[in-house]
Amino acid sequence: MSQAAPRFRWDVLSIFAITGVTGLLVTPWYGLTHGFSGWLWMMFVVMLLWNGLSITAGYHRLWAHRAYAAHRIIRWIFALGGALAVQNSAWVWCSNHRRHHRFVDDDAQDPYSAGKGLVFSHIGWMLRDHPASKLDEGNIPDLMADPILAWQHQHYWAASFSLNVILTLALGALAGDAIGGLLLLGFTRLALCHHTTFFINSLAHFWGTQPYSDRNSARDNGIVALLTYGEGFHNFHHTFAWDYRNGLKWYQFDPTKWLIQSLALAGLASRLKTAAPEKIELCRLAMQRKHLVRSVSLLPRIDAEVWRSRIEEEYAQLNACLHEWARLRQQWLALRKGQLQQRWEETELRARMRELEEHLAFHKHQWRFFTAQFA
Ligand SMILES: [Zn+2]
Ligand SMILES: [Zn+2]
Repeated sequence: MSQAAPRFRWDVLSIFAITGVTGLLVTPWYGLTHGFSGWLWMMFVVMLLWNGLSITAGYHRLWAHRAYAAHRIIRWIFALGGALAVQNSAWVWCSNHRRHHRFVDDDAQDPYSAGKGLVFSHIGWMLRDHPASKLDEGNIPDLMADPILAWQHQHYWAASFSLNVILTLALGALAGDAIGGLLLLGFTRLALCHHTTFFINSLAHFWGTQPYSDRNSARDNGIVALLTYGEGFHNFHHTFAWDYRNGLKWYQFDPTKWLIQSLALAGLASRLKTAAPEKIELCRLAMQRKHLVRSVSLLPRIDAEVWRSRIEEEYAQLNACLHEWARLRQQWLALRKGQLQQRWEETELRARMRELEEHLAFHKHQWRFFTAQFA
């Protein structure tokens, strides 16, 4: 017996349709015929950043994943920015997102499962009352205890309306162009922010590489990162979800990470969580080994066996080296905590670690030879 489809959300569709058509068609027409002042363009950038970063640094990394702690003032700025973003309250958003990570790619339980297609994971999941996207208070007890988020949940639509309509009209009026303010700062900013954020659920699960894990559909993609304040490094994120970074390398575009680091420098963020470097490296190596084994299996049988055994041998040595390095590092960190005690032991440990690091560099060099050979 087929089940009736969940209720269609005409109200949600109307919000997307009205903001999309107005923001992407009416605003350009208004701009061409009336022009926008420098003040409005400046406010447009400010509101774009406030909206986007409140979702990525606030809803996502701070609240959904607890990847760091933030000062009260910052939490208020993110809570208001979340209302500006019109992506539901932090409670609802984070409840869905925690379920997404827990049941990733499970069509019945992941609210925006990539298995149901690109359009579904981008926007379709919000257009019906699917059971998987119902607020589950059981998976956000920590957020329900936060009075700022309780206030935001309770006054969500009033705050959203005030920020998206009244504030944008007022900012426009300051430059003598209230309608221009509503169009550019309200509709266009909202339409752009909606779809770029939605790319994290859609494109970031379809397009890109899987350097850390292939246990789910999440991908790393530098172009998606450019559009999503750094959230395009989604393969890393799904592998180490509690890490405050998504772009691990310094050159990877991750302004959300840069914001969190800047807040920490200013004393407004603390307890920034990072995954252990050896764990990241082990995941990366395991994926490279998988690709190498697959590539050599295409060679003639005799060659394939020779290469395969060389790769497995080098992989085992590199793995053992990394595990030993991690063990020594743990010891060293524990000794450093004890400060003055057993100083000589610490020095000796450092020397052993350096020796091991040389071994590690040698094995990494060997490994690069294989990956270059079969790239
Ligand atoms: Zn995801
Ligand atoms: Zn996440």
